[in-house]
Parts: sequence; C-alpha cells; structure tokens
Amino acid sequence: MDSRTFRDAMGRFATGVTVVTTQVDDETHGMTANAFMSVSLDPKLVTISIDHNAKMYSRIKQSQQFAVSILSDEQMDVSMHFAGQKDNPAAVQFDFVSGIPVIRDALTAVVCNVIESYEVGDHTLFIGEVLEIKLTDGNPLAFFGGKYGSYQPV
Ligand code: FAD
Ligand code: NAD
Repeated sequence: MDSRTFRDAMGRFATGVTVVTTQVDDETHGMTANAFMSVSLDPKLVTISIDHNAKMYSRIKQSQQFAVSILSDEQMDVSMHFAGQKDNPAAVQFDFVSGIPVIRDALTAVVCNVIESYEVGDHTLFIGEVLEIKLTDGNPLAFFGGKYGSYQPV
C-alpha cells in the first residue's frame, strides 16, 4: 500500500489541532500536532506521537516535559506557522504555565512531565503525566482530509 492511501485513510478521522511546546536551555520550541490522545484518568495521562525527523523529538527527549495547546478556530495561522506551512511570527505568543510555554488564547493547555516513551516505527509516543491544565472558552480548529475547518454540532 502506498503512503498516500494510508494518509488519505487517516485523514478521514477528523481531529482537533494542537501545538506541542517544550523548552530546552530557556529556548522554546513549538510544533503543530494532531496525534494527541487522552490515555488515563487515574493517573491523568495523555500521549503525543512525534516523528523522529522532527526537531521536537530530540527537544522533548532532552527536556522530559511538554505542553499541548488545543487551538481555537481563530488560530489557523498559529497551526500553519508551527507546521512550517506559512511563516507568521506575529501569530506566535506564549504564556507560561508551571514554567512551560503554552500558546496564548488556546482552548486548553495541558502541561506534562514525560513518564514513559515508546519508539514505534518512525515515531515515538511520549506519555505525559498531567501537571496542570488551563481552560479558555471558544470553538475548536478542526483538521479533516488534509484541510482546516471548524466544528458544527449536528
Ligand atoms: P520546525 O519545522 O523547525 O518548526 C516548525 C515551525 O515552528 C517553524 O516554522 C519554526 O520557525 C516555528 N517555531 C518553532 N519554535 C518557535 C518559536 N519558539 N518561536 C517562533 N516560531 C517557532 N508531526 C508529528 O510528528 N506528529 C503529529 O502529530 C503531527 N501532526 C500534524 C498535524 C497537522 C494538522 C499538521 C499540518 C502537521 C502535523 N505534523 C505532525 C507535522 C509537523 O507539524 C511538521 O513536520 C513540523 O514542521 C515539525 O516541526 P519541527 O519540530 O521539525 O520544527
Ligand atoms: P495528510 O493528508 O498528510 O494527513 C492526513 C493524516 O495522515 C494525518 O492527520 C495523519 O493522521 C496521517 N499522517 C500524515 N503524515 C503522517 C506521518 N508522517 N506519520 C503518521 N501519520 C501521518 O495532510 P497534509 O495536509 O498533507 O499534512 C501536512 C503535513 O503534516 C504533511 O507533511 C504530513 O506528513 C504532516 N503530518 C504529520 C503527522 C504525523 O507525523 N503524525 C500528522 C499529520 C500531518
């Protein structure tokens, strides 16, 4: 099976869009990601899946901490910036939660310590224990079929 067929299939699973952030030696790094999942309630765990070719991979291995900011439908420019799709430095604004950078005005910021990591194929799953959460009202940015959109209740 070719990679395009696989991506077309996975792209039919509509997701939200997040920016994963971490900090190494006072330097903040951010990356757009939709491979994010809630894992456990007790203890409170989440996971992200990071490509071994992404700079984020070595940064999280070093810092052993990350935050996941769930983007609102007003933050497509933020997603495009942190995916390297369209540079927009003006869209980049960080707040700090428990000393970890998060995206300002995101719907939710979840701050984590890495407690486990699993190399699987060309990605690593980082399991994060949730240290703190920040909630903001708004509507989510969606990703479906390789395109951005917004959420509509049926
Ligand atoms: P770079 O490509 O160097 O950084 C990404 C961009 O962020 C660059 O433009 C950089 O200038 C900017 N940036 C980073 N830090 C800062 C900062 N402190 N201040 C200002 N700008 C900064 N990949 C995965 O591995 N897992 C996923 O789950 C995933 N999901 C995705 C979902 C979507 C909807 C999209 C569009 C892409 C997804 N990707 C995912 C791909 C990933 O976002 C890109 O490959 C990304 O470019 C990898 O980032 P990098 O860590 O290699 O760093
Ligand atoms: P796309 O058609 O490439 O993505 C559709 C779906 O395919 C994604 O939601 C994801 O589930 C899956 N996918 C895509 N690339 C993958 C990868 N390298 N590893 C595992 N799953 C992957 O959508 P697009 O608009 O072409 O995406 C923009 C860019 O972002 C592409 O370069 C794509 O590879 C990358 N991306 C990477 C991941 C990831 O690494 N997990 C996820 C989404 C998008």
